[in-house]
Amino acid sequence: MKNHTSTLDIVKASKSKIEDTDFENLTFGKVFTDHMMECDYVDGAWQTPKIKPYGPLQLDPSAKVFHYGQAVFEGMKAFKDKDDHIWLFRPDENFRRINRSSERLAIPAFPEEYFFSALEELLKIDKDWIKKGFGNSLYIRPFVIATEEGVSAAPAKKYKFMIICSPAQAYYSGEVRVQFSEKYSRAADGGVGFAKAAGNYAAQFYPTNLAKDAGFQQVIWTDANTHEYLEEAGTMNIFFRVGDKLITAPTSDRILDGVTRKSVITLAEEFNIPLEVRRVKVKEIIDAAKSGELKEIFGTGTATVINPIRGFGYAGEKYELPKLEDSYAKVFKDKLMKIQYNETEDKYGWRYAVK
Ligand SMILES: *Cc1c(COP(=O)(O)O)cnc(C)c1O
Repeated sequence: MKNHTSTLDIVKASKSKIEDTDFENLTFGKVFTDHMMECDYVDGAWQTPKIKPYGPLQLDPSAKVFHYGQAVFEGMKAFKDKDDHIWLFRPDENFRRINRSSERLAIPAFPEEYFFSALEELLKIDKDWIKKGFGNSLYIRPFVIATEEGVSAAPAKKYKFMIICSPAQAYYSGEVRVQFSEKYSRAADGGVGFAKAAGNYAAQFYPTNLAKDAGFQQVIWTDANTHEYLEEAGTMNIFFRVGDKLITAPTSDRILDGVTRKSVITLAEEFNIPLEVRRVKVKEIIDAAKSGELKEIFGTGTATVINPIRGFGYAGEKYELPKLEDSYAKVFKDKLMKIQYNETEDKYGWRYAVK
């Protein structure tokens, strides 16, 4: 069946995979819904977006994405409330950010009306994949790749903007301990750290494997010049609680401007939690850990919302954090999830109804 609307071409899958999906035992990001969105950039313009059955792509082996990593992505979620209404959380932020990432990678901007109309249509077509219940969601992965054939090192003239969706359960990543980086860096001044550029993540795998061999699950990156300041984790911004005060690093061209981070900063004000947005010295965190003043470290990001960190390692020493009953991490996570699932007032206008 083929539907033509003026702004969207829709081809429906002949058979749904949903019956074969075990929603009780999902591995994050492994199963995808029946449909995907695909939009080509050719002849200097984004063409009509298409929704079509999820499936493999055929690309020329010389396509520039394979050689020069001209690729960016986003991560967002859709939630279903008790009355089967579907909600997104601050999707305008993700839309603006993918175009900021694209600009830095010399990829043409994607039109806002294409993004929202195609995303909403895709969510409506695959709505049965969004399960109700606190913690269940649909992880949405928009991305852009350079598809033009030819191995000359220059920006491509052809791209694909795509959206794929994967059902997700409450994310429990186990007890997370992190290593403060002393040698490797993820981003540098004037670089692409602020962008969700594919290559940023590939470059983290090797040092993260070394951290894993040393007993940690993730790395907290330090500034590339001195390694004296804590910046962020691979896919999460980081907050430190010293006494009752929260501290997080300012965003910059090295640090990603996370939607969850931004939301926590707003909520901290609402909850009267003292918060400082400033550079965070490794030394002050080590000192606070030694004196017992370091109460919490947590990461913020769409996949986990808030990810409490149990301990960290630095310069061959290991530090454990106290187990708190009333952690800030829990307070923020509860509030954010209640907003996301339409279970509380949304006074900042963060929820976006998919109608
Ligand atoms: C995606 C990401 C985050 C978190 O951003 P959210 O918008 O909160 O999901 C933080 N740091 C990096 C490096 C990221 O890629």
